[in-house]
Amino acid sequence: MVVALVTDADIPSNALHALSQVIASRGRVLALTGAGISAESGIPTFRGPEGYWRVGSVNYRPEELATFAAFQRMPAEIWGWYLHRRSFCRKANPNPAHLALAELERKLGDRFVLVTQNVDGLHLRAGNSLERTYQIHGNIDYVRCAAECGTGIRALPEGLGTDWPKDTIPSGDHLELLHCDGCGAFLRPHVLWFDEYYDEERYRFESSIAAIEAADLLLVIGTSGATNLPMQIVQRASQRGISILVINQDPSPFSAIAAASEHGAFLQGAAGTWLPRLVEYMTVVD
Ligand code: NAD
Ligand code: ZN
Repeated sequence: MVVALVTDADIPSNALHALSQVIASRGRVLALTGAGISAESGIPTFRGPEGYWRVGSVNYRPEELATFAAFQRMPAEIWGWYLHRRSFCRKANPNPAHLALAELERKLGDRFVLVTQNVDGLHLRAGNSLERTYQIHGNIDYVRCAAECGTGIRALPEGLGTDWPKDTIPSGDHLELLHCDGCGAFLRPHVLWFDEYYDEERYRFESSIAAIEAADLLLVIGTSGATNLPMQIVQRASQRGISILVINQDPSPFSAIAAASEHGAFLQGAAGTWLPRLVEYMTVVD
């Protein structure tokens, strides 16, 4: 029985139905997040104006910089870009959308999985567990040897600080810190680049596919639908006919899939407005 809530007034009926159904059937929820969920914490998305980065006289787009090919060509410059992006992440705090997903994990336990494209670590800081959070594009606070000499994934050296100015290229001691103490090669950010492949060991690829095969409800939050594994997840959810709820400020290929599906809905607006209400609704109908 669905109880009327003060906050459910403008939640579409398809969404109310999907949420109450998953609670009643003790179903599984997969939440898929992208840069949009962290935008309200002050971290720029890739497609916004802050995404650009100047090297010399050239203004690069993120898709050109976030590649192994670019790193091989200009490692120190790419490090400058990452260290600056990391400054945004370190200054930011989890917002109500992150906190709502942490609440949802506490509520559902092992019936919840979070697949995030974000490298900012905010979901973990909000209280989601590492075990149930698949960081499919890595984490900007970690590094590994670019020559893959087997020294493993480790924290970014502390001596680099947490506030890296824009358009600054590391040099001297800073550059020294960015080399592997095992083999002397450059360290690299522990992130998946656009010209690289997902795997299980580093990026939880198979676990993510298994999670969408088992899910009864897919929540898609703040992602433009431009990367491969998220596309596979949404397509698979659509083929399986499970409920898909998409939260985004703007329409996207994912919102079109959700809106066209029998049990889905597109919730247009900010993640920090929608998610707490959806999670509150799930708590009330439980
Ligand atoms: P994207 O930048 O391509 O898309 C962001 C999406 O979020 C857009 O569709 C936009 O309409 C939506 N959005 C913006 N503000 C929102 C809000 N307040 N509420 C709801 N939706 C909002 O990001 P993406 O799809 O995640 O993919 C780009 C890649 O960039 C990923 O590989 C990711 O690893 C990387 N990235 C990560 C971070 C981060 O860690 N925070 C930031 C930028 C980019
Ligand atoms: Zn090494």
